[in-house]
Amino acid sequence: MFRRIFRREEKDPKLEAGVRKTRSSFFGRIAVLLRRTEVTEDVWDELEELLIGADVGAATTDVLLQEMRGRFRRGEFRTGDQLNEALQERLVELLRTDTASLPLLSEGLTVVLMIGVNGVGKTTTIAKLGHYWRGEGRRVMLAAGDTFRAAGIEQLEVWADRIQIPCVGAQPGADPAAVVYDGIAAATARGFDTLIVDTAGRLHTKTNLMEELKKVRRVVDRHNVPARSLLVLDATTGQNAVLQARAFAQAAGLDGIVVTKLDGTAKGGVLFSIVRELGAPVRFIGTGERVDDLSPFDPEAFVASLFAVDAVDVDQ
Ligand code: GDP
Repeated sequence: MFRRIFRREEKDPKLEAGVRKTRSSFFGRIAVLLRRTEVTEDVWDELEELLIGADVGAATTDVLLQEMRGRFRRGEFRTGDQLNEALQERLVELLRTDTASLPLLSEGLTVVLMIGVNGVGKTTTIAKLGHYWRGEGRRVMLAAGDTFRAAGIEQLEVWADRIQIPCVGAQPGADPAAVVYDGIAAATARGFDTLIVDTAGRLHTKTNLMEELKKVRRVVDRHNVPARSLLVLDATTGQNAVLQARAFAQAAGLDGIVVTKLDGTAKGGVLFSIVRELGAPVRFIGTGERVDDLSPFDPEAFVASLFAVDAVDVDQ
């Protein structure tokens, strides 16, 4: 059943809507659980259940609860409201591995390699990022480096057309490293400063995919063009996303993560274990299928909207 609580002024409507399921199923319920209450053993148990339910992950939940219980025992806080505050602060801290935004160079070309398995929303995210960075005044070009999938190339070209951003195409089966080479040449010649490269996303367990990624990375490095690797993870796949991330990080390096489809899951707590286990920052979150359903990630705003029971309906 939904209980309606008064609606506060929404800060970032995209974020508020994007975490609605996670908030109403789990974090909002934590906020309600801890409101004006004493911290009893039952409260700790229920808190644990809700964190696990939100897919914060067993290990991360354990660490969080041990810390909170320790602080409670030492008398650092006494009430549920104080625990709520301490928990939110700690969650923000967990996400804040690196407060700087994704550094793209202001002069010359930066290559952004987009990595991740098929279906996570990589192509859509490339279009969203292209649109976002162009809005920030950058000159953006795309390169269809996922030559393994004819449909992948086509889909990127359709997006490029729709958002009016040039795209270096490729023939299916072409060498991705050659596409990257062409992309760098075209972007340099035409004065673009941001080249977003799609890469193949066949399952990460295939060693040749990882070899291919390393080769793409080598081509970029050989040109002395600064590169950033952004890993795209699908929030709806939960803890599996954490496993995927490791293999990709080894092959291409990892400058940040984009978590997609937050709007489609109640298990958005997976962000906490992704960041904690990979030590890499979330840079953007995807909250829908449209080109502007992307927000730069702000740990404080994210945690605040997860717990914002006054903004939403809370599952009781
Ligand atoms: P790719 O195979 O990784 O390139 O994935 P696509 O970009 O083709 O996306 C797969 C599906 O996920 C498409 O139906 C997208 O519209 C959808 N999608 C991508 N990002 C999001 C998101 O943030 N939210 C939602 N709800 N759907 C998304």
